[in-house]
Amino acid sequence: MTARILDGTKIRDEVFAELKGEISRLVSEGIRPGLAAVLVGENPASQLYVKSKIAASEQLGLASWMHTPPASIATEQMLHLVRDLNNDNAVDGILIQLPLPSQVNTKRVLEAVDPAKDVDGFHPVSLGRLVSGRPGLVACTPAGCMEILRRNNIQIEGANAVVLGRSDIVGKPMALLLMHANATVTICHSKTRDLASVVRRADIVVAAMGKAGYVQADWIQPGAAVIDVGTNKVTDAKEAESLLRNFPGRLQKFREKGSVLIGDVHPDAVNSAGALTPVPGGVGPMTIAMLMSNTVKAAKLRRGKLKSETAQSIAGAR
Ligand code: NAP
Repeated sequence: MTARILDGTKIRDEVFAELKGEISRLVSEGIRPGLAAVLVGENPASQLYVKSKIAASEQLGLASWMHTPPASIATEQMLHLVRDLNNDNAVDGILIQLPLPSQVNTKRVLEAVDPAKDVDGFHPVSLGRLVSGRPGLVACTPAGCMEILRRNNIQIEGANAVVLGRSDIVGKPMALLLMHANATVTICHSKTRDLASVVRRADIVVAAMGKAGYVQADWIQPGAAVIDVGTNKVTDAKEAESLLRNFPGRLQKFREKGSVLIGDVHPDAVNSAGALTPVPGGVGPMTIAMLMSNTVKAAKLRRGKLKSETAQSIAGAR
């Protein structure tokens, strides 16, 4: 059996098209949702991420601003910048690109962001709202995984879902979203015993560990849906050859380029899963789609335009 490919790029385009319509409706009411991004220093990967977020904002008709303080910035100056953005009524979403330089207290900076503008969903207040089933802003990557499941009509209610990873930004919110959607959820981490047998019971597997190809194809229950959050850059030829032994085309590309992006799930799982997100092109594009969606949602919540109190609205409402 070959898995149905859960194409994140296609769903991102659908979400973008919907958001574009919604943003132009808001603009016609005099509201242009706005995203302020803070990019500290000159980390090339961070520069690339922030540029693509700003480009997406522009594509959709959101207002956007990029603040680029130097790598030498102190915590107090960062806090000052965050306070200014909190007080700026044109700004609906504040994005602090991580990592911050080591002299900056990341926790203090993230906690200084007004929860109403916390479009990354990293603030403890946002996480608390998610735990208690109140409407709020949900971390973009897990929200994107839920969107992939929903838009592909994958049954969540009653399903056994296994989440591999318990980070604050992926694993924990993912598990909560699945639980609110009535899945029976198991959370695994580095101390979990016999991971293979836990994964074998899953109808839905979400892998967010940061370990290239760790989840083996024969751990996947035939027909299960697999959401692979991992994005691991593999540069070692031996490792690439072992992971891609059944994918000569990808292996050839690795030889030409010297690197390849591999998820946390072994590529051979395409022959055991019922449905699978590709890496790249699965969860990655959805993260940016959900950031845009959160900015629109923040603009509406701040203006009292979203009032649903149900737990389900947390993931679904925009
Ligand atoms: P993280 O903070 O490093 O957390 C990794 C989690 O995996 C931890 O909870 C860890 O357990 C668990 N883990 C590690 N080894 C394990 C093992 N052998 N068995 C079971 N669990 C294990 O990572 P993260 O920020 O959540 O990100 C996870 C992955 O997703 C990374 O590859 C990252 O690049 C990717 N990611 C992708 C996107 C995207 O847009 N596509 C966005 C965010 C993250 P302990 O808690 O016990 O240490």
